Amino acid sequence: MANKVVTRTYRARVRNHSQVRDGLDSLGFAASKLWNVARYTVGRVWDACGQIPSAFDLQKYLKDHERYADLHSQSSQRVLAELGEAFTAWYGHRSNGNTKANPPGYRKHNGEHPRSTVTFKQKGFRHDAANDRIRLSKGSNLKDGWSDFILCEYDVIGPRDTTVENVQQVRAVYEHGVWRLHIVCRVEVGVAEPPGDRTAGVDLGICNVAAVSFGDESLLYPGGSLKENEYYFAKKRAECDDSLSREARRLDQKRTDRRTHFFHTLSKEIVERCAERGVGTVFVGDLGGIRDDENGDPKNWGKHGNLDLHGWAFDRFTTMLEYKAEMQGIAVETVSERDTSKTCSVCGTKADSQRVERGLYDCDECGTVANADVNGAENIRLKNESTSESTDAVDRSNGWLAQPAARLFDKTRGAFFPREQAVREP
Ligand SMILES: [Zn+2]
Repeated sequence: MANKVVTRTYRARVRNHSQVRDGLDSLGFAASKLWNVARYTVGRVWDACGQIPSAFDLQKYLKDHERYADLHSQSSQRVLAELGEAFTAWYGHRSNGNTKANPPGYRKHNGEHPRSTVTFKQKGFRHDAANDRIRLSKGSNLKDGWSDFILCEYDVIGPRDTTVENVQQVRAVYEHGVWRLHIVCRVEVGVAEPPGDRTAGVDLGICNVAAVSFGDESLLYPGGSLKENEYYFAKKRAECDDSLSREARRLDQKRTDRRTHFFHTLSKEIVERCAERGVGTVFVGDLGGIRDDENGDPKNWGKHGNLDLHGWAFDRFTTMLEYKAEMQGIAVETVSERDTSKTCSVCGTKADSQRVERGLYDCDECGTVANADVNGAENIRLKNESTSESTDAVDRSNGWLAQPAARLFDKTRGAFFPREQAVREP
């Protein structure tokens, strides 16, 4: 076992929530206000010169703005960086041909500001490890009298033996009516020996949540039960008269829990299938660069921005996959999805027009007919394989490309099974 240093994010309850709630609320509102000021500024710059200012430029424009001093300067900086990333991602989606993507919007809901996530970097917090307490700095505008910080007592959610140390940053996140802390730590972990040196490619999608290619075999995970779940809760939610009621919140929590459970089970399943096939590296198609950066800053803003559920969910899924794979010694690497759906994985021909019809990729050049998502997964795998194997690919029997083994989520047993063994609820 070797050791390596990784970033871990622990979620924590705030024990003295009733004492700090108002303080955290005012920071959360302030972050939304600053976001909106910055969003307005981007619009004006765009109108004036047809360019979106970078996060760096935004900071130059806004560092003397009154709203900037509501939060600690590093927290304000992070709000602007998030807006910059939201614009970059939107721009990426547009360049990839997603015409439905909307630019990041204002953070307002029924005329009120939502409670945005507030990030505290090194200078913005002080961690008292002995007493499980964290001091979060306010901006100079929000200091009241003697107090320029909020003192949160926390309890980590999860295994009891978790030690919180080497804290890199803290995020105050408003989740289903309460504030929680996300504490990002640097942790040293043991690394297991990889099960082998084979590779797998994973293509994430909406119709099929995942397609996995091993180069001579493929697995398919249809998204049916996930969609049923979303549909069921969306319907129940619509029946609630008051969207802020306790019942509505309970439903939201339940939907999130079910979705999280599904993704936990799916990531465990994929890691197991990879381990039994001697896979040492898994390549996952990246859906537009929405990943945690090396400091643990989340580049997703699913709750308040305009990214759809799937972008957000897949980002979390990839993180789950990484954690579970790591324990088996399997590396997970994200790779660009560019052209992976347009290219034939057997002969490498890139089709100009979309070659996909009814879920099949049909190559004019070599006659290959493949399941479109499996073809994508295989391209993701091949992108990082040595060239020798990809040229050999032409000679391989490729029936497996057209006939992936479908594995379905069995809700009662909480695991995936081959289609004929899975019990599907109506
Ligand atoms: Zn071909």
